[in-house]
Amino acid sequence: MTATPSRVLVLNSGSSSLKYQLLDMESGVRLAVGLVERIGEETSRLKHTPLTAGGGEAREVNGPIADHDTALKAVAGELARDGMGLDSPELAAIGHRVVHGGMFFTEPTVIDDAVLAEIERLIPVAPLHNPANLTGVRTAMSLRPDLPQVAVFDTAFHTTMPEPAARYAIDVKTADEHRIRRYGFHGTSHAYVSRKAAELLGKAPEEVNVIVLHLGNGASASAVRGGRCVDTSMGLTPLEGLVMGTRSGDVDPAVIFHLMRVGNMSADEIDVLLNQKSGLVGLCGDNDMREIRRRIDEDDEEARLAFDIYIHRLKKYIGAYYAVLGRVDAVVFTAGVGENAAPVREAAVAGLEELGLAVDGELNSVRSDEPRLISPEYARVAVAVVPTDEELEIARQTYALLHDSASRND
Ligand code: AMP
Repeated sequence: MTATPSRVLVLNSGSSSLKYQLLDMESGVRLAVGLVERIGEETSRLKHTPLTAGGGEAREVNGPIADHDTALKAVAGELARDGMGLDSPELAAIGHRVVHGGMFFTEPTVIDDAVLAEIERLIPVAPLHNPANLTGVRTAMSLRPDLPQVAVFDTAFHTTMPEPAARYAIDVKTADEHRIRRYGFHGTSHAYVSRKAAELLGKAPEEVNVIVLHLGNGASASAVRGGRCVDTSMGLTPLEGLVMGTRSGDVDPAVIFHLMRVGNMSADEIDVLLNQKSGLVGLCGDNDMREIRRRIDEDDEEARLAFDIYIHRLKKYIGAYYAVLGRVDAVVFTAGVGENAAPVREAAVAGLEELGLAVDGELNSVRSDEPRLISPEYARVAVAVVPTDEELEIARQTYALLHDSASRND
């Protein structure tokens, strides 16, 4: 008996890493998760966890993995050991996270040569991410050329942003020539979390206005009106907006010329400063919110100030997106910090009672993997925690695309 293919392998290729998950979209079961780290180094590591009944024991393979091609072959080998290899007839498609889809890709897209060329054309606006994503796609295509490979873009959810939110106020000709505009990132997460938040409120996504705060090591806020993004805090690159683990977020652009002229720093040095040595790590030496909270508990002034700067920026974005939306039904926290750090949620909303926002201390302190409300019953605006699941969303969009195109061909 030939099974109907219902499995989707989700690949997220970074510059030196490859994260993956295998999901069955009919049963909703996650079958395997894993990660290859430090690709190209001597100390590469593959960690594979099968999640099928009887499985669950994580396996590690240590030793040099030269490139993404070797990494994906090793992953395929581990999946095959569990009877779920890339040649399995149950595999319906491979869904790829692609960071930058520019203005061109507004939807998940089946990858062909033209799509590959367009993703490549976008490398100047995503020099760190798109080349790695492309390597993953090309490797997967070479291993299974017959299988649909779908690109799901981080930017796609934000392509509904109206022009006043998407444009910078700089010379139009220059901006157009260099494709400078606000693209936004983390879109897969913002899409998933805003839809789940509507579900939590018992409403259709079209009926609700939501502010989503994706607070991980990278962090971004979005304003979502009736299921469509109308503004987001990241811009041309994932550097703009909130204070992040290692990124500054918003700064006066003149800081850059100042550092060039007065600090004698090169563009590359400033790039590293703002992307890797700023944010929480630049302010206090730590980017892990758990460590920062621990230091605050020991009266560490530096950690306290870093936390306060982080919260101040977050609050400004909540206020800004409240104004953009006019009416807000929910403020939703997600990702590593948003899902786990109760003090961040409490501080971000503190003092916003006039906006109808409040957090219930007891509900806020509950730890759970489920979407949940943390606002008191009397609050006009719901405050919620919704764990994000970008892999599930990529798999869902990939699978939906195949079924949509199959039904169009019927
Ligand atoms: P992400 O990028 O979504 O994986 O989030 C990673 C960040 O989440 C880490 O840098 C931590 O700062 C934060 N994080 C994870 N767990 C906790 C926790 N229990 N409490 C506070 N922050 C956490």
